[in-house]
Amino acid sequence: MYGMGLFYGFGPGLIFVIIGMVISMAASAYVNSTFRKYDDVHSRNNVTGTQAAQYILSSQHINNVGVQQIAGNLTDNYNSGNKMLSLSQATARSTSVAAISVAAHECGHAVQDATGYSPLKIRAAIVPVANFGSSLSMPLILIGVLFSWNQTLINIGILMFSLALLFQLVTLPVEFNASRRALAILGSGNILTEDELPIARKVLFAAALTYVAAALATFLQLLRLILIFGGNNRRN
Ligand SMILES: [Zn+2]
Repeated sequence: MYGMGLFYGFGPGLIFVIIGMVISMAASAYVNSTFRKYDDVHSRNNVTGTQAAQYILSSQHINNVGVQQIAGNLTDNYNSGNKMLSLSQATARSTSVAAISVAAHECGHAVQDATGYSPLKIRAAIVPVANFGSSLSMPLILIGVLFSWNQTLINIGILMFSLALLFQLVTLPVEFNASRRALAILGSGNILTEDELPIARKVLFAAALTYVAAALATFLQLLRLILIFGGNNRRN
């Protein structure tokens, strides 16, 4: 990630990177096992992810959003740029409670977009800045180190890296809010039954945890960068 492999081999704070990796791996193992567990629980109403998404969108009076099927596993997403709600094959075709929950979560993003939910707007505005920052961060730090430890360049590099963390932090309320909206819609509509709702809650909670883990891992990486390259740390 972020081309930091170069610096993994030395310096203090390696434990931070290891902790971050373990947290990320644990979160993704948890989400995978949760999905596997509930992917066999077929919803009593027998609707697919695609049908659930279409039903929810029209029930929310959102008529300008398309629903399409895309390749990959857990690639489900909503694109506010082209108003396209994309569901992975597994989500689109399955009638499981897990698939319907994921579809409803993506609809949650469409509702955020339709209602002008500001964290979603902020997140969209940060995307290019964060991409720019995280791709420039390591080169800047490296050049700073090569130019007889130019602390200003190094600090700008660290600041650039923190933009990636900022993006992940703004992502958290967006994701939690989309799931909250999804559960409210699923609870009030007649897509899931009363006893299927707790399963939806578990599936969406597990999915949200992966975003928390990613933010935590990036925070730990930033901490390590500061430890190694932060001020008054000149190593000759
Ligand atoms: Zn989401």
